[in-house]
Amino acid sequence: MGIPLNVLIVDHADSNASLMLVELRKGRFTPTHKRVGNAEEMRAALNSDQWDIIISAHDMPNFSALAALNVLAEHGEDIPFILVSDANREDSAVEAMKRGAQDYIMKGNLKRLLPAIERELREAAIRHERQQDEDRLYHSMHYDHVSDMPNRTLFCEQMKRAILASRRSSDPLAVLVIKLNQFQQVNNALGSIRGDNLLQQVGQRLQRCRDGSEPIAHFGGTTFAILLPEAEVEEAIRTAKRLLKETESPFMTENLPISVTGNVGIARFPEHGSDPNTLIQRAEIALYAAVQLGSEYAIYQPEMDFENYRRLLLMGRLAVIIGKETELFLQYQPQVEMKTMRVVGVEALMRWQHPEHGLILPNQFISATEQTGLIQPLTTWVLKTALQQYRAWEDLGLNITQAVNISARSLQDLEFPYHVANMIKAQKGYPEWLQIEITEGAIMANPARAMGILTQLSAMKISLSMDDFGTGYSSLGRLKDMPVDEIKIDQCFVKGMLTNEDDAAMVRSMINLFHNLGRIVLAEGVENQATWDMLASLGCDRVQGFFIARPMGGDQFPHWLKASPYHVE
Ligand code: C2E
Ligand code: MG
Ligand code: MG
Repeated sequence: MGIPLNVLIVDHADSNASLMLVELRKGRFTPTHKRVGNAEEMRAALNSDQWDIIISAHDMPNFSALAALNVLAEHGEDIPFILVSDANREDSAVEAMKRGAQDYIMKGNLKRLLPAIERELREAAIRHERQQDEDRLYHSMHYDHVSDMPNRTLFCEQMKRAILASRRSSDPLAVLVIKLNQFQQVNNALGSIRGDNLLQQVGQRLQRCRDGSEPIAHFGGTTFAILLPEAEVEEAIRTAKRLLKETESPFMTENLPISVTGNVGIARFPEHGSDPNTLIQRAEIALYAAVQLGSEYAIYQPEMDFENYRRLLLMGRLAVIIGKETELFLQYQPQVEMKTMRVVGVEALMRWQHPEHGLILPNQFISATEQTGLIQPLTTWVLKTALQQYRAWEDLGLNITQAVNISARSLQDLEFPYHVANMIKAQKGYPEWLQIEITEGAIMANPARAMGILTQLSAMKISLSMDDFGTGYSSLGRLKDMPVDEIKIDQCFVKGMLTNEDDAAMVRSMINLFHNLGRIVLAEGVENQATWDMLASLGCDRVQGFFIARPMGGDQFPHWLKASPYHVE
């Protein structure tokens, strides 16, 4: 058995084809062939089969080698083409070689055919390999190595073309940059391979939820981008919301549901820039602003370039006012036990009434204080204020816990439990007054250390609650071993459960699961009676949300309690 060789013979006569095949069989080849005598037959053959080589006669009644070369060029595949011609046709043979034929053999000298084929196959293989190398190089320069989606370079090229088209048509275009949160923790908790797998899933989902085939890219890490040609602002916003919504319903990694949150920054051509890099940069500035503001998306505004500066000013002011009872204050939001209608606790939520910027909510400044180290004095202030408030409420005969949110930094601070103990002592309080709310993310930064600190707090009889559950990536295995008393199901599931079956299923299984682990389950973000009813039917223990009460001042709480259907005994 020789080497298989699939030969396309372009000739009008079978007898000529047979002569060539006889010649081929003399070599190492076992040829298979098809003969075509005109352009249609040749096109059909090229489309229906894979050919190693084409051997073509020069002139045929209905066809010619030059016409056959045109058909091959049209087809676009690189198949060696050998011309077999009568003697004295050198001129047109040279013309054929100029148009892409690799060699020409005189009809009377067919013994040159075999070596020519061998050489051409070798060269074709080299060409093919080189082409593959080039393709690979092109690919690695233009596609992300984790998700295999177009990268920033390719996206910029696509943008350049889109900008040119927009210039011609005077249509606007929008660039959306999307960044997903908390992936570092996924990588820490699940390993980078599963982190990469999650990114691939996210990429696929983002690709699927486009309207059409708008260019989409993965800039690496957790950042993606999408280009919307001809998009007005409203459409850009709609798309941003849809993309985020799409990533909300959990991804499955190793049977673990993981939901992803993100922010989107939007920049538009022509207002915000006229070249790809400026537009992307400005979308990234808007993205950064969205993260800082805790909003889903932000559209670029020139003032945003000063956002960093503003943040520094805010932190500077905060450093001065912590501890002075001026601009910072706490609000308290009740938590109710569903079965008994008893108020079992309140959560202290920080507020900053800034003289120029008005009311600033914690999501707008907590992360900056974590980066600047201001979070420590701030946490001290919150604990002290919350404990003082508890003492002030004591006369009401309350039997509640005062929940305080603790940032990631505190959970890495080995001194934190002593610090809390000292604060309780200083306020002449009891550990049972306090509940400490932690998030999955805060634990994931250094699980072993966080675990040590939580164990100490728990041993001190301070109850622990896992906040925003479902938005992070802690493994259930780890959670099972942690001394937390209560799990707070994140509002995004609770809000979605009436309309979204996935959310409802998540809430149901979280309640069952945590009950099996002996934990109390609290649902956050309960905004209406229907949600209350559904949670009650699922056996949820506690609820918190605007339906029960909005966060309120400490002085207001006793009045609210009196007027409410709830009690404290
Ligand atoms: P969180 O601990 O999950 O607090 C619940 C947030 O949801 C609060 O927002 C609350 O006002 C809001 N909320 C409660 N019920 C509902 C509802 O029915 N519907 C809606 N839409 N929202 C509801 P807030 O006060 O803006 O706090 C945001 C986050 O800031 C908190 O989330 C917490 O992680 C953090 N935070 C608040 N105070 C402190 C603090 O003193 N220290 C630290 N480290 N973080 C804090
Ligand atoms: Mg909380
Ligand atoms: Mg929460």
